[in-house]
Amino acid sequence: MNDINKEDIEARWQLLVWRAVIAICGVTFGLSWILFACHRVTKSVSSGIYMLQYIFIPVIIQIVTLVVCYFMIKADTMSNKKKDYVVIGLIFVSIGVISFTYYSVIPLILLPCITIVATALFADQALTIWSSVAVVILTVIDMIRYHVEADGSFAGLNWFGVLCIYLLFVILLCVMVVIVNTHTKALMNSITGSYNRQVTLMSELMIDPMTGLYNRRSFEDSLEKEIENVEQTGAKSYVTIFDIDHFKEVNDTYGHSNGDIVIKALCKMMKDKSKDMGLAFRYGGEEFVILFHDVELSKVMNVVEDIRTEFRCYYFHFMNKDGITCSCGVAEYAKGESSKAWFNRADSALYKAKESGRNRTVISE
Ligand code: GH3
Ligand code: MG
Ligand code: MG
Repeated sequence: MNDINKEDIEARWQLLVWRAVIAICGVTFGLSWILFACHRVTKSVSSGIYMLQYIFIPVIIQIVTLVVCYFMIKADTMSNKKKDYVVIGLIFVSIGVISFTYYSVIPLILLPCITIVATALFADQALTIWSSVAVVILTVIDMIRYHVEADGSFAGLNWFGVLCIYLLFVILLCVMVVIVNTHTKALMNSITGSYNRQVTLMSELMIDPMTGLYNRRSFEDSLEKEIENVEQTGAKSYVTIFDIDHFKEVNDTYGHSNGDIVIKALCKMMKDKSKDMGLAFRYGGEEFVILFHDVELSKVMNVVEDIRTEFRCYYFHFMNKDGITCSCGVAEYAKGESSKAWFNRADSALYKAKESGRNRTVISE
């Protein structure tokens, strides 16, 4: 059911984004030394101040953010959704630091890409909208700062006009990303829906709708798997077949729907009493099986006799008395035998129980 684990996929991508940011920071750190070498040629500020302002302070901020982010995405207490926000916040900080350090337009152009990345990775509408808002705010701050601290012109163009056009571009891009995200979400919902429908259909194929027990098909699969398991581990396993005595008479006397009530009562007992040791199945109309796994015969017999006794004493309102009984055949798995042979031995034991008077359990030799 959980083969496709959305949480695991998201966790993997959070870590990948974190690593990608390390790579971005590493490249920037390398480039900043090249720029430092160029600075030494021009020498507008002292080398010490330059290194502090352009290399060490940005790197320290980035390292601290990376470390904090790592512990947050590894924390068990934080939800996956919040972790998505943390990694996207990390990208904003790392690109923001570069942009603020160098007044560069390139990181500014990269900012809207964060929204695209956030959408592509996590397909979360709220995250897309928040990162779009963050892009707009950072763009305005960065451009105002550019206007105040740098000479304020963009290759001779009017600063305010450039800001407006750039903002318009960012907003348009964000709207497009929101639309793409809506489409991705609808697609994902449709895929998840058909996957869930498939899982429901598969489980319906394995379960008997009237009693809620696993059906015959499921029993046959389980029996094969049990044999594989027992052959490997040497554990003891038992097939026990239950059959209601003179059930046809119950139907003929009290009606089919009351017959159903009898079947359901027995199935509930079988399910409840065997749940720690095995699995209960509806093999056919009024024939049921419990497959006991890795249990001693004494415990199997305790459960079987408990079910048989409780069923015999069960008070059915439509009869106004108790007294419907069942018989049971038990067979332990014998090394090397086939599933058919194992089941047939249990069935023969059941037949002996019927032959010798019903309302009893017979163990196959
Ligand atoms: P025995 O003690 O030898 O087992 O006798 P029996 O009457 O129980 O056995 P038989 O196989 O002759 O009859 C089984 C009956 O179970 C026949 C069938 O109509 C009935 N039956 C099978 N499935 C259902 C069901 O889902 N609901 C009801 N009410 N009856 C069912
Ligand atoms: Mg019967
Ligand atoms: Mg029968």
